[in-house]
Parts: sequence; C-alpha cells; structure tokens
Amino acid sequence: MRRPITAEQVKELASILDPSTRLFTRADGEEYDKLIARWADNAVKQAGVVAVPVTYEEVSKLVKFASDNGIDLAVRGGGHSTGGTSSTEGGLCIDLSRMRAVKIDTASKHIVAQGGAMWVDVDNAAIEKGLATVGGTVNHTGIGGLSLGGGFGWLAGMYGCVCDNIVAAKVVLADGRLLPASEKENADLFWAIRGAGHNFGVVVEFTFQGHDQPNEVYAGGIVFTADKLRAVVEALNGMMGSGDPKGAAVLVFARPPTAPAPVVVTNVFYNGDQASAEKYLEPLLELGPIANMAKMMPYNLVNGLLNAMATHGRRKSIKAVTLTNNAEPAFVQELFDAYVKATGENPDLAHTFMGMEFYDLAKINSIPIESMAFANRGPYRAGVVGLEWTNDKMDEENRDWGRMIQAKCRQKIIDSKEYSPETTKTALEYANYLEPGDLMGDKPFGVNQRRLAVLKAKYDPDCLFYKTSPIAPLVTARN
Ligand SMILES: Cc1cc2nc3c(=O)[nH]c(=O)nc-3n(C[C@H](O)[C@H](O)[C@H](O)COP(=O)(O)OP(=O)(O)OC[C@H]3O[C@@H](n4cnc5c(N)ncnc54)[C@H](O)[C@@H]3O)c2cc1C
Repeated sequence: MRRPITAEQVKELASILDPSTRLFTRADGEEYDKLIARWADNAVKQAGVVAVPVTYEEVSKLVKFASDNGIDLAVRGGGHSTGGTSSTEGGLCIDLSRMRAVKIDTASKHIVAQGGAMWVDVDNAAIEKGLATVGGTVNHTGIGGLSLGGGFGWLAGMYGCVCDNIVAAKVVLADGRLLPASEKENADLFWAIRGAGHNFGVVVEFTFQGHDQPNEVYAGGIVFTADKLRAVVEALNGMMGSGDPKGAAVLVFARPPTAPAPVVVTNVFYNGDQASAEKYLEPLLELGPIANMAKMMPYNLVNGLLNAMATHGRRKSIKAVTLTNNAEPAFVQELFDAYVKATGENPDLAHTFMGMEFYDLAKINSIPIESMAFANRGPYRAGVVGLEWTNDKMDEENRDWGRMIQAKCRQKIIDSKEYSPETTKTALEYANYLEPGDLMGDKPFGVNQRRLAVLKAKYDPDCLFYKTSPIAPLVTARN
C-alpha cells in the first residue's frame, strides 16, 4: 500500500529539486485546483502535492523520491482517464503539462514529442512539414496515455496503431533511471511500453514515425435517423470489406440536444480527394442521411472535429466494448435499443454516447501480436460507451450499466466462430477504454500477459506504476 506525502516530505522534496520545477499544494488555491482538474470531474483527487517539471532529469528525481519513500505516485499526461488513473489521493502527482514540445526531423520523418504533449501539438507540428502520424480522434487527449495503451486513430488503416508508429522513447523507470528504449536499446522495455506502457515508467519523450500527408482529407459527420441503423451497419461492413485502408468511420449513437430523437451518426474519414471519398462512401450516402457535414480539410483539423462532443467537466466514465469485425446489424440494433432505453429513462444520461470504430484491419493485424505488448489485434472492432451524467450519487449505478453493455458485447465475441479460449491470442477489450473495476478477464494483455509480468518484475518490482491495467510481477528462475 503506497502512502500519502507528508508536509515534511514536501519540504524535503522542494530542497532537492531545481527551481524550474514548481510544486503546488492545496494552499496554492486556484492554481492547484486547475492542476488537479481532469477531463472528467469524478477523476479529480486531492493530490498531496503536484509537481510540474520541465526537464527529464527532474522527472527522474520526482519518481525516485516517490519510490524511495513509498509515496503514491500519479502521472498526468492529457488527464483524460475517467477512472482517476492520473490522479492521487494525498500522494505526489507529476504533471507533464509543461512538457509539450514537438520537433520534426524531416530527413527521417521522425516526430519527437515530449510526454505531456496533446495530439493537437503533434498534428499541427507535423503538418507544417507535410507529415502526419496515427493519433487520437479528439485532439486534446494526451499522447502519453493514448500511445502507451495502443492507440486507434483515423490513419490506423494505413499505418497501424499509434504504438506501431513509435520508433523510440525515453523512459524514467521506478528507480529514477532515464533509459532510451528502441529496437536497438533496451528492446525488452521498448516491447513493454508499446501497449502496457502505463505500467513501466514515465515516458518523457516519444519518437513517432511520420508519413507524407501532402493532400487534404475528407471528413465529418453524416447523420441518419434511427430507422436506418441496420442498413448503415451493412454499408459500413461493405466499406470495410472493400480493402481500401484510406477510409474509416466511427459509428455513434447520440442524443443531440437539437434533435427530437436519438440519432445514428457516422463520422467518416477518407485520405484522398472528394471524388474518391464520395465513391468510397457511396453505400452510406445513398441511404439518405438527414445531414452531411463531411468536407475536405487539412489533416490537422480532423482530430478537432469531435472535440465539441468531448468537452471537459461533468461526471464521465468510458467502457470498452468489442464487436466482431463484421458487425452484426441485429446485435448493433440491440445495443442501440438498450442505449435509447437507458438514456430515455434517465435524462441525466442524455449526453451519453456509444461509438464503434470501423478501421480497415489489414495493416493492424499484419503486425504479429507477440511483437509488442499491445494485445488488441484480431478480427474485432474496438468500441466505447461514453457515459456522462451530473448526479454524484449515481456513479456506481451508471458505471454498472456500462459494464452490463460491456459484458453483453464480450459474450457475443465469446459465442462467435472467431473466438476460441485455446487459440485466441488477443485481449477482448481495448486497454485504453477500460477503467479499474471493469471486466478485464484474467489476461487483459492476452497472449502477452506472462512476458509482461516477467518484465514488470525486472523494471518495477514494487509496483510504483499500478493505476492503469495493473500487472503483477512474476519472478522466475531466469530473472
Ligand atoms: C475524449 C476521449 C477521446 C479518446 N479518443 C481516443 C482515440 O481516438 N483513440 C484511442 O486509442 N483512445 C482514445 N481515447 C482513450 C485514451 O487513449 C485514454 O483515455 C488515454 O489514457 C488518455 O491519455 P491521457 O494522457 O489524456 O490521460 P491521463 O489521464 O493523463 O493518463 C492516463 C494513464 O496514462 C498514464 N500516462 C499518461 N501520460 C503518461 C506518460 N507520458 N508516461 C507514463 N504514463 C503516462 C497516466 O499515468 C494514466 O495511468 C479517448 C479518450 C477520451 C476521454
């Protein structure tokens, strides 16, 4: 059990830090309140002290101090965890918000981003040099949490997941050492941080592979009335079956305040010109949407399109749900009906949404699942229930509803012909859409679980980093 930090220890910590690292306690009032704020109000915890470093060496000192003194440690990237995994009650929080610099090496097309950057920082810096990489679809999300758990984004069909595009990282380990990680240096650590990174240290720097992005892209929301849902799912399955990795869509159930009834929105993306995009999207467009906001735009604006439905504040919880690759229209209809019922009966849940991601899976699944920790590859589609409410007495009840949907989807996968308990290597729920207490099964990292446990014993045997999909260390005769 890790401990809160004492007032004496805060003083001691201050004495060993460089003046560039600022420390904030409750006595600092508004500034402290801003630092402990999170995307979801329910993820706020009263840290004993928040440290805001600007150098990697200072992050090392902070981590070592927490380690040496048994203090509870939280690391805040973009602050989007709804389960409070970047917060601490009484402990030390390392806030990376002043480490957001991004540099581009045009020769190698490498994008070097500090661990506290958000996707907007990466997307904007990269496009200035005609480059893009796979990133989150809401651009105020942190690159830290998202990349370390895998990362799906609009370019995943073309280039794989975010973790498939990490070429190097700098990691502060539990004992305070700052290590480079790549295929050439500390390759086992590099393997572990690509998928289970939250368990292994503070990543103060990521190097991503950038890709040429000379053209604008076609993107935006296409809205349908609910009676079109099954046909929309069939159209999306057809688009995915076309084998064109440039296209993608996220199917969303929502209750926009301006709409008289719940609607079905397909947020679409095509990395090409308008004519090619419209040809690709023809099966959807010919269903007669009630609104079509999709248009051509520079790539760096795409990940801002969904920001309006993902604003900060209020109580929130995200729940991973998984669908089979070829989504079954009748099952998706069942999910929609459950969504309409729950959000209709409880108006406090009206801003809740459900999303299902349609990326071409060929590139993602061409990368062997054992090649890094990330274990969400297979004939499946990641999805999410995005619960939102205001009544703090309903936290558990609302989460339980999300878990019920999660369990329903899990059972559907288990009953599918693709799944076998003996041979399925993948984890069933996408790690970045899970919260503590969710259904994770006994192997949230699938076939990679055992190797991760062995590496945990090597790099963090005392479990300083335990807040996101925790891994129990396994000591073997060989380590
Ligand atoms: C609005 C929204 C949109 C999303 N969109 C997508 C999407 O398009 N694709 C996708 O794959 N996922 C998406 N997610 C899920 C997202 O990947 C996770 O919520 C992720 O944890 C967010 O990272 P963060 O840095 O913002 O969060 P934080 O709350 O800061 O951190 C989450 C976890 O990561 C750790 N962490 C953060 N930074 C570092 C670091 N530099 N070093 C070590 N540990 C670190 C924290 O300690 C914590 O355990 C979305 C989530 C939200 C809320």
